[in-house]
Amino acid sequence: MSVHHHISDALLLDYASGSLAESWSLAVATHLALCPACRKRLKGMEMAGGALLSGIGPAQEVTDDDWRSMRARLHRDEVQTSNVRSKDAQAKPSPETSRLKASILPEPLRSYVGGDVDTLKWKPLGPGAHHFPIPTRDGEAKVRLLRIPAGKPVPEHTHGGRELTVVLAGSFHDGGDVYSRGDFEEADEDLTHQPVAGEGQECICLAVTDAPLKFKSWVVRLVQPVLGI
Ligand SMILES: [Zn+2]
Repeated sequence: MSVHHHISDALLLDYASGSLAESWSLAVATHLALCPACRKRLKGMEMAGGALLSGIGPAQEVTDDDWRSMRARLHRDEVQTSNVRSKDAQAKPSPETSRLKASILPEPLRSYVGGDVDTLKWKPLGPGAHHFPIPTRDGEAKVRLLRIPAGKPVPEHTHGGRELTVVLAGSFHDGGDVYSRGDFEEADEDLTHQPVAGEGQECICLAVTDAPLKFKSWVVRLVQPVLGI
């Protein structure tokens, strides 16, 4: 498996600094679970975190108090980083787990939704497509899994804001780009796109949107409140 579409620096920095809400973090964490390259980038950012968080501008005179508070922050960051490391160690599959059939949903997503794709109660969403809404505590964005039949489009839409998508099974193409397992797409309000699931296999992805999608077709717009999308 090779991942071709990664998390932007800006978004990964938000995640590293802990300022990203739970909804968006779920998409970032899902990509990280499938992408060793971005895990490495994250580690680099966490190591630089002490300097980024120091808050001491170059023009300011540095006092003893500043140094003391910076050292305290650096120490706190070290503690947080080592906590993350020990969590990583716990997340490693035991030999017993790895003998089982490979999961489509990686951790922490699988635990978050309480099962893998075959055990979830999917709801119909347009012709042949299904979705599984995922409640989050922050309520800042709408989080759900999408299941699109092979070769079928997700209805064309623009966004009221940001949308993050992580492919978990199959693939979709959007414009000239192909996204498959692990790939991460960041879309914003300026982008009108037409994702279409690849042929031969249904596409399952995690989608996080920060506002109701504005579908272009009036028919879809009419049923939007009924479908809850
Ligand atoms: Zn990546």
